[in-house]
Amino acid sequence: MSWRLSTTSARSTRAVARDLGASLEPGTVLALNGDLGAGKTTFVQGLAEGLDVIEGSQVLSPTYTLVNEYPGSRVTLVHIDFYRLDCADAARALGIDEQVLRRDAVVAIEWAERLPELLPPSTVTIYIELGAGDARTLEVTGIERP
Ligand code: ADP
Ligand code: MG
Repeated sequence: MSWRLSTTSARSTRAVARDLGASLEPGTVLALNGDLGAGKTTFVQGLAEGLDVIEGSQVLSPTYTLVNEYPGSRVTLVHIDFYRLDCADAARALGIDEQVLRRDAVVAIEWAERLPELLPPSTVTIYIELGAGDARTLEVTGIERP
């Protein structure tokens, strides 16, 4: 199952992610794909609001930390970035494979397509395509539209 929608601002991408986040159960893995500046981190900011873990604006890119964790009352958000990982073994050496499979958390992974072998079969994929200006198209596979 797959659905698409368009947004015209960072704010509307965050709103889409917020609505999705409100319905997500722990153990869900979200793969976020799309070019630099597409809006993957922006999407996770909305997700954080929907999961009620933290004020969305406090979500920072895990480009250098690789994994950021935001504990919440209902569910924890684990935010991972595969961008700087060269191979699955490098990720395993850092224990990131285990973070991906956390049962107590919603796990959102930027650049997930770089290491598909670390993703469970149930992974929900979100591809964000850059359009002109602030236009983006989101294609979501693996979960129904909320
Ligand atoms: P990524 O993590 O994919 O590299 P970011 O979320 O860090 O991307 O950056 C996306 C940038 O694009 C932000 O500066 C954001 O404000 C801007 N932007 C403009 N329009 C949109 C939109 N429709 N959806 C998401 N971000 C947008
Ligand atoms: Mg990012």
